[in-house]
Amino acid sequence: MNNFAMAMLCLTLSGQALADGIQTPNPSVFRNLVSAETVERTASDQYVRIIIDASAHHALATASNKDGQRINAITKRLLPFAARVNPRASSWRWESNYLNSPQVNAWCMPGGKIVVYSGLARGLALSDDELAVVLGHEIAHALREHARARMGKSAIVGMGTAVLGQVVGNGRYAGAFQLGGNLLSLKFSRSDEVEADEVGLDLAARAGFNPRAGLSLWRKMAAAAKGAPPEWLSTHPASSSRVADIERLLPKVEPLYQAARQGRSAK
Ligand SMILES: [Zn+2]
Repeated sequence: MNNFAMAMLCLTLSGQALADGIQTPNPSVFRNLVSAETVERTASDQYVRIIIDASAHHALATASNKDGQRINAITKRLLPFAARVNPRASSWRWESNYLNSPQVNAWCMPGGKIVVYSGLARGLALSDDELAVVLGHEIAHALREHARARMGKSAIVGMGTAVLGQVVGNGRYAGAFQLGGNLLSLKFSRSDEVEADEVGLDLAARAGFNPRAGLSLWRKMAAAAKGAPPEWLSTHPASSSRVADIERLLPKVEPLYQAARQGRSAK
């Protein structure tokens, strides 16, 4: 690791609080190597290409699709709690889409571009609460800028000081992106996964969705993984203790759920 990266690692400020509920540490300093604007613009370009391709293949759900309506309604309830995690979220142009595809998958790209595949929602027969936990998890990755941090790390590990200087100096992300490849193929780390579970459950609970659905959701996902592993699991590496880990989180987020049910949720 070079001096610049080392110096950035030392720039640790106090942790970011989500008030009650889940406390998150400071975002990874690696994300500072690429600008949020560039990552979000790149994500938007890729997202548009995916939606155009899905539309051309008649896979994009129409406005009358009931599952698509469910995804939109659940997303709409989660979003008022996004800016407390990342203030940039209030300026993102959020979009959610439902694709008719057997993929067991869902994602939220940097900048708030969401896609849920029917292979996940319908294939695993997810309830609204379970969908809210999945969506919360995906939105949490975007809010905590995990993709941006992954790309910053790639810039250090793979490109060396000279190119790093170029990326940082010009605020250009193109080189690092070519190295990192498709945003959707970025594999999150175990610690990213833990954080996305935590923040996602916090979001779902604040929006009035039962966080206990996290237990049944991951059991369904684990059962699905016994056949051909779902696409989702190739980019979201899970530990064998995921369900137990979520069980331990519940005492922190269940009060948020109870408060939301009583109309007392804090944004
Ligand atoms: Zn994940």
